[in-house]
Amino acid sequence: MLRECLNHWLRRYGEPFQAGAQGYRGLFFQPPGSLLRWLFSPEALGELPRPLWAVAVAPTVSLPDATVLTWRGASYRVLSSLEFRFDAQINGGLYSYEHPKSLRLSPQEVVQLDLEYPKRSQEWKAYYQKRALQPVDRSYLYFCGAGLVSFHIDPYGELSLCMLARQPSYNLRQGTFQEGWQHFLRQVRFQPASQAAPCNGCQWQTLCSQCPGMNQLEYGDSFGKVDYLCEIAHLRAHALDLVSAPAVVDNLSGL
Ligand code: SF4
Repeated sequence: MLRECLNHWLRRYGEPFQAGAQGYRGLFFQPPGSLLRWLFSPEALGELPRPLWAVAVAPTVSLPDATVLTWRGASYRVLSSLEFRFDAQINGGLYSYEHPKSLRLSPQEVVQLDLEYPKRSQEWKAYYQKRALQPVDRSYLYFCGAGLVSFHIDPYGELSLCMLARQPSYNLRQGTFQEGWQHFLRQVRFQPASQAAPCNGCQWQTLCSQCPGMNQLEYGDSFGKVDYLCEIAHLRAHALDLVSAPAVVDNLSGL
């Protein structure tokens, strides 16, 4: 399914290029500065030949480093190849915008994609097993790095925990970042989890993308669970044959 979509997309928007005796199609674009800074040190970046182009190709196409390819009559050398990755779960839109949900794959299709990529299935299993032995402290509503190592500021100066969890927010036009970060966000970040939360004790949390931010996008509040994500997690657990694997244990003793 994914390959069909990508091939259709490349046929429509891609351009032909040649690598050795083989002809392919790819989408050429200017590599974003953030990608270049992630791939290369400042010194290496300064020494790279120009112009630089990035090319997106089908996941079946292999272009190892140093491959020479010809595009629009000029030759280029591959400096770095990145692994093909995808995320099949489309989250809800900001401010209850419904349209993204209409583009979603069904939970069954999402899990089918996990199975079509053996490396992906193996990584899910390994991650589940690893986290089963290292339970996450679920005594707080938020259990990720939001408010600890990251934050989000929208174009109106509203400071919030992350780009998904926009509520509550602190207005930086009426206060300082220090006040917002050290006091306001700290309180939001360390609010306790509810004892009645539907995900308490669920052994499939590791396989699930549920979090307060996802819940805000789906239903407008931080509590509860997103049914779409819940169904995917349960289907994934069965598809990966994890039903008899060790359970993830919640630490709710602090409540
Ligand atoms: S949404 Fe469902 S599968 Fe995910 S953690 Fe909550 S109860 Fe478990």
